[in-house]
Amino acid sequence: MSTQSVENRRHKVVVIGSGFGGLFGTKHLKRADVDVTLISKTSTHLFQPLLYQVATGILSVGEIAPATRLVLRKQKNAQVLMGEVVDIDLEHNTVTSRLLNQDTVTPFDSLIVATGAQQSYFGNDHFATYAPGMKTIDDALELRGRILGAFESAELATTQEMRDRLLTFVVVGAGPTGVELAGQIAELSDRTLEGTFHNIDPRDARVILIEGAGAVLGPMGPKLGGKAQRRLEKMGVEIQLNAMVTDIDAHGVTVKDADGTLRRIESSCKVWSAGVQASPLGKMLAERSEGTEVDRAGRVIVEPDLTIKGHPNVFVVGDLMSVPDVPGQAQGAIQGATYAAKQIKAGLKGQTPEQRKPFKYFNKGSMATVSRFSAVCQVGKLEFGGFIAWLAWLALHLYYLVGYRSRIITVIQWFVTFLGRTRGQMAATEQWVFARLALEQVAEDQEDADELAAALGAPPAGNGRAPGKAAPDRAVS
Ligand SMILES: Cc1cc2nc3c(=O)[nH]c(=O)nc-3n(C[C@H](O)[C@H](O)[C@H](O)COP(=O)(O)OP(=O)(O)OC[C@H]3O[C@@H](n4cnc5c(N)ncnc54)[C@H](O)[C@@H]3O)c2cc1C
Repeated sequence: MSTQSVENRRHKVVVIGSGFGGLFGTKHLKRADVDVTLISKTSTHLFQPLLYQVATGILSVGEIAPATRLVLRKQKNAQVLMGEVVDIDLEHNTVTSRLLNQDTVTPFDSLIVATGAQQSYFGNDHFATYAPGMKTIDDALELRGRILGAFESAELATTQEMRDRLLTFVVVGAGPTGVELAGQIAELSDRTLEGTFHNIDPRDARVILIEGAGAVLGPMGPKLGGKAQRRLEKMGVEIQLNAMVTDIDAHGVTVKDADGTLRRIESSCKVWSAGVQASPLGKMLAERSEGTEVDRAGRVIVEPDLTIKGHPNVFVVGDLMSVPDVPGQAQGAIQGATYAAKQIKAGLKGQTPEQRKPFKYFNKGSMATVSRFSAVCQVGKLEFGGFIAWLAWLALHLYYLVGYRSRIITVIQWFVTFLGRTRGQMAATEQWVFARLALEQVAEDQEDADELAAALGAPPAGNGRAPGKAAPDRAVS
């Protein structure tokens, strides 16, 4: 355990998370008379909107996930600590983070919590075994391995039934991520892989997009949703609306239609992009601050100044905050974090929490790409789609990508992919596909062994933890 001295120090801000909220919050404190410690369980700033391009072989991980430490190299008042935050003590103003077997306790004067959200399977967590989500680098690489692996196995299939199952790709959820993924799997099979196999024609692949609601891209409205749907259908994507996925196993999905009919789709490769659940730190904060609640997705219902009740020095921003009319999008996180940083700076100049003006969200619009040369875009009342929207999408994503190097390489990869037929990142390994499940199995075995040891009155075999989760040394930094 390591601790940082509290005496003779500047105002200390702890920022949890290195996503849009965490990074932008930290950067906005660059010139402030504060010391910032950014703690994150991942060592990178992940640009989630382009994860689907990693999953489909267009971009490499490096382009969308620069090391946070390098991004903040020139910010002398910022320290980056890697570790998963496991405790927030609102009484003593400390954060405990864990990296491997070491706990670190970091004190704060102000705290910005930006730990985002994770995949939600709506209580059916076992779906994750067969249908990974799309939230992390690991998810994207696993998915790339599963998609490309399905084509490889299809080439070796000994029956038509096997071949059909392997060449059927099911994407669950027709929000922006589902639409983008379905479009890219279709282009991968039609353009990139065409002519590269002998026993199969990749163009025979079926891509099915399943949505429980009645529309594609529902929140973007019928005009843009309709445009996206027509474009996908033109590319051969089968869209099934008002269809609820009720079960998923190794060989397919069970779907319930609006009239109650149950049917089965045989498919080896499934992707889940149907829901999100806020980081568990939201619930922890609510439990520890009297009167603070979380919404159904586990997001913290914050005060008008994005703090929690009774703790004007603790801000919750990004996908973890619940604020009416603020969508779970990058803009919400950036604007929330910028606002929090401004309040901290104003506080140093004597502004009291009561004097804070409430957070106001400025909706800059939303967009989703459907295929190469086609996107849909909504800015205020203006709604448009097609090539112009696609160019706007490219420009905006390049603007928000962190680092010149990433931008240049991304542009090159986009040229290669969208103007040519090839893709630059088609590598995949067996480990990417199976490591997650193997680690979960090891953890389960460890728990079983510990339960058995407890029943026999013996000490736990592995300190009660799975490998990589050894019992922590207590330390304060
Ligand atoms: C596939 C996908 C596509 C998307 N496309 C778009 C888009 O096109 N446009 C758009 O505007 N938005 C898009 N979004 C949403 C957007 O990415 C999020 O709204 C945004 O990332 C939220 O930022 P955040 O900082 O709140 O959380 P995140 O960016 O998720 O960052 C959370 C951070 O917290 C860290 N963390 C989590 N738990 C802990 C812990 N216990 N201890 C320490 N660190 C922790 C994580 O490692 C991560 O660094 C997309 C999201 C996904 C998943």
